[in-house]
Amino acid sequence: MKAIRVHEFGGPEVMKLEDVPDLQPGPGQVVVQIHAAGVNPVDSYIRSGAYALKPNLPYTPGNDAGGVVMAWGEGVTRVKAGERVYVSGSLSGTYAEQTLCNEAQVHRLAGKVSFEQGAAMGVPYGTAYRGLFQRGDARAAETVMVHGASGGVGTAAVQLAGAVGLTVIGTAGSERGMQLVKAQGAHHVLNHSSEGYLDELMKLTESRGVDLILEMLANKNLAKDLTVLAKKGRVVVIGSRGPIEINPRDAMGRDADIRGTTMLNTSEQEYKQMHAALVAGLENGTLRPVIGQKIPLVEAARAHTEVMKPSGAYGKIVLVP
Ligand code: NAP
Repeated sequence: MKAIRVHEFGGPEVMKLEDVPDLQPGPGQVVVQIHAAGVNPVDSYIRSGAYALKPNLPYTPGNDAGGVVMAWGEGVTRVKAGERVYVSGSLSGTYAEQTLCNEAQVHRLAGKVSFEQGAAMGVPYGTAYRGLFQRGDARAAETVMVHGASGGVGTAAVQLAGAVGLTVIGTAGSERGMQLVKAQGAHHVLNHSSEGYLDELMKLTESRGVDLILEMLANKNLAKDLTVLAKKGRVVVIGSRGPIEINPRDAMGRDADIRGTTMLNTSEQEYKQMHAALVAGLENGTLRPVIGQKIPLVEAARAHTEVMKPSGAYGKIVLVP
């Protein structure tokens, strides 16, 4: 089969398409034939060698995919040959024609959901679910600002929050992104590139502020986030690309929390709960992943350049073998 291989950490150009042996499942493992692989910002942090988690070289990047079960090892009971699945976590990487997973990393993909949409589930929807419910304690009737709602995690968060009865304020940096956020069911959409957009947010909440913020670019926004929180508000830091100075008094006066999150800390139980909810959401049509770009697997380097662009996100980037 063909797979992207990385032999040294570095820029996008270190990813090369190569021929590698077909995968064989061991006990409790499943081999999935990949129809689409999700491209996440974290894949490029790992490839550059700057991430906390460094795989042994050479390796195949990627955590997420949509595909069909090809083979399974002894003891596997949850899936069978030919079943459509999405993959969230992989032992061998997903930028390839096949991937090897533990049985628990493979989830049923409803018939009406495309493989590309399946590839958009794992990291983006998992993170949005974790940010809202496992870290953010989101409750119906609260107001959430999804600060960066036009990308993979943001569109997922808008759909999830709207489905359980939160009032959703989403932000994007372009007109096209704003329309996308509105189409996901956001009640209000603001432009995070325009002056004074947080004043508009205060007007929308009648000066009360929001109960919860999911923050995609904390190094730019955290200080201001603390000034638009309601009493007992929470900011969940999902993305940050550098340091920032904050005024702790803005948190004190509100009894506010700043809560970090990383998918790496998801426990087995939390992972199970997350995917039970996500599978159900795909089946009942609540969750509709938005695909922004489909890029051929051989052009993985271009996909990494696209996913790291500072603005202009529009749904999810997937690689197609
Ligand atoms: P993505 O698809 O590239 O989306 C990036 C989002 O950030 C877009 O909505 C973009 O909006 C927005 N953005 C750009 N400038 C912004 C600003 N000034 N204020 C607020 N938002 C802004 O990336 P993603 O997959 O959704 O991931 C988002 C971030 O979360 C990344 O930094 C990623 O590394 C991180 N992340 C963390 C975890 C974790 O476990 N903690 C998991 C997944 C992702 P426009 O393009 O419309 O301007």
